[in-house]
Amino acid sequence: MAFWNQRTVARRVSCTGVGLHSGAPVTLTLAPAPADAGITFVRRDLDLELPARHDLVVDTRLSTSLGQGAARVATVEHVLAALHGMGIDNCRVEVDGPEVPILDGSAAPFVCMLVEAGARIQREAKRYLVLTRPVEVRDGDKLARLEPADGFSVRFTADFGHPLITDQGFGIEVSDRTFEREVARARTFCFRRDIEAMQARGLARGGSLENAIVVDDFSILNPEGLRFPDEFARHKVLDAIGDLALLGRPLLGALTAVKSGHALNQALVRQVLSDPDCHRVVQVSADSEGARARLPLGVGAAVGAGSPQPA
Ligand SMILES: [Zn+2]
Repeated sequence: MAFWNQRTVARRVSCTGVGLHSGAPVTLTLAPAPADAGITFVRRDLDLELPARHDLVVDTRLSTSLGQGAARVATVEHVLAALHGMGIDNCRVEVDGPEVPILDGSAAPFVCMLVEAGARIQREAKRYLVLTRPVEVRDGDKLARLEPADGFSVRFTADFGHPLITDQGFGIEVSDRTFEREVARARTFCFRRDIEAMQARGLARGGSLENAIVVDDFSILNPEGLRFPDEFARHKVLDAIGDLALLGRPLLGALTAVKSGHALNQALVRQVLSDPDCHRVVQVSADSEGARARLPLGVGAAVGAGSPQPA
C-alpha cells in the first residue's frame, strides 16, 4: 500500500447518536474529499463548512469545538483522532447539528465506519509536518512537548490525584494498526462529583454509563469495568492524537504530555504553527529507497535519507 500517498474514504458512511452535552440526536457522515482538501466539518443543517484548522478552535474547556460566527461543531476530537490515527488525510465530516455524536465515548465506532467505508489511495503525496527542534508549552505542572522523531509517537502521563488515576502512563508509536488495536477503544471518563455540576450548567445531558467511564471517590461505576487497565491514559493519548490533527497534516514528531488537556494541546499546536523555524513541510518521494524500506513506522528516517521535496 502506498502509505506515503494521501488517502480519503472510498465511499460515504453514516451513523446516528446523541451529542454528549446537548443530548440531541445527530447523524454523522464521513464522505470522500479531494486531495489536499484536508478534513472539513460540514453543518448540513446550516449549509456551512468548518475546516479542521487550529484557528477555528473556539472552545477547549470540556472538549474541542470549532466555530465560525455563531455556528459550532463541538466534541470534534474523537472523530479527528480516528481519521488522524487511521491515516486519512482528506474527508468531509457532515453533521446535522452542533455536536459530533458521542457514541460509546471512544473512537472505535468511527474506526469501524472507516473500515466499512474503505480507504481510497489518492495520487498526490502526503505532506508531513516534520518537527526540526523541540517545542514545549507548560501550564503549572502540566506539560506538552513535541520533539523531532523518526515517526509519530505519543506518550501521556495522567494524574488526577485520584486513587484510580495516579501517575498512569501510556505511550505508543502511532500507525493505523496500533491506533485501532491499542487506542481507539479507550473511552472518555468523568468524575461523578463533576456530573451534577455540568448538568446544572445544561451540559452532559447526553452523558450516561453507555458513553463514558464514570468514577466516584474510590471505584468505577460502570458494571462492565474497564476495557484496558490503563484506559484513562490511553484515552488521553486518543484525545491528543485528535487535537494534533488540527496541525492540518500528518506529523513526524514525538509528543510527551503530562496532565495535558485540550487547551494545552491546542496551545502546543498554535506554538508549532506560529514558529516557522521549528518545523518544515515535506513530502516523501514514493521512489525513495528509504521510504520503501522503512514505512509506515519509519517515515522520519525516509525523509532524512531519501529525497524529500519541499512542499
Ligand atoms: Zn476524549
